[in-house]
Amino acid sequence: MRNNRKIMIAGNWKEHFTVAQASIYLHRLEEAVQNRQSIEVVLLPNVLTLQPLSVQLDRRKFRLGAQDGYFEDAGAYTGEVSMAMLRDLVHYVLVGHSERRHVFNENDDVAAKKMQAAVRNGIMPILCVGETLQERLAGETNQILHNQLSAGLMNLTAREVSASVIAYEPVWAIGTGEFAKPDQVARATDFIRKQVEHLFGARAATHVRILYGGSVDDHNAGSFLSLDGCDGALVGGASLNYHKFAGIVETAYRVHQERITRR
Ligand code: PEP
Repeated sequence: MRNNRKIMIAGNWKEHFTVAQASIYLHRLEEAVQNRQSIEVVLLPNVLTLQPLSVQLDRRKFRLGAQDGYFEDAGAYTGEVSMAMLRDLVHYVLVGHSERRHVFNENDDVAAKKMQAAVRNGIMPILCVGETLQERLAGETNQILHNQLSAGLMNLTAREVSASVIAYEPVWAIGTGEFAKPDQVARATDFIRKQVEHLFGARAATHVRILYGGSVDDHNAGSFLSLDGCDGALVGGASLNYHKFAGIVETAYRVHQERITRR
């Protein structure tokens, strides 16, 4: 099957920017980022800023995503914001980000419920998977990816998996400046696609988009984006700098143009 997957560049702003700062930053970002229809650019600001940014946002350039969402649609869950509450604001939601897993102790069961809640509410989930350094050194990378994928995707149909996004984010590369080597990313994204094929069939494996995340910046982005099985990048730190983020989007556009001429 032909690969028509649209390259995605997603910026995870994490716990940064007040509403006022986010508004100013978005203004600068809109000036810096070119309108590239062939690249899907997603911004993932904190939950408080989603509403004001949704009004300000240039929808020709950007889509909004949430960094998290709770799996119960409503109820006595103090402090939580449900997928049902996010559904009119966002296209995407991160599920199982390593900071949720490791700082907030969220396990695969929680990730599975959030995946299901996202698709139930018409939000496309971006499931984050990846091994710790200790797991990599112990040769457990594939086992960890297998476990996180089979648990995270457990409640979804093949059609829902096709529309989902998976981000390979080795924990040791997130926020450390130490990015994975392209051949490590290629091996992991190939393994993830094979797992999706094994669990959900060839069609889902052909359609699902698989991103790399972990210290991506405007200098190294090209080495990941030009891999055949890598459909984009989930960017943390560098998404807080509009020059760098715009540079990553331009790199994605160049890679896309090269792919078209190769076909
Ligand atoms: C992330 O937050 O998902 C991430 C990959 O962060 P960074 O780019 O800073 O490593």
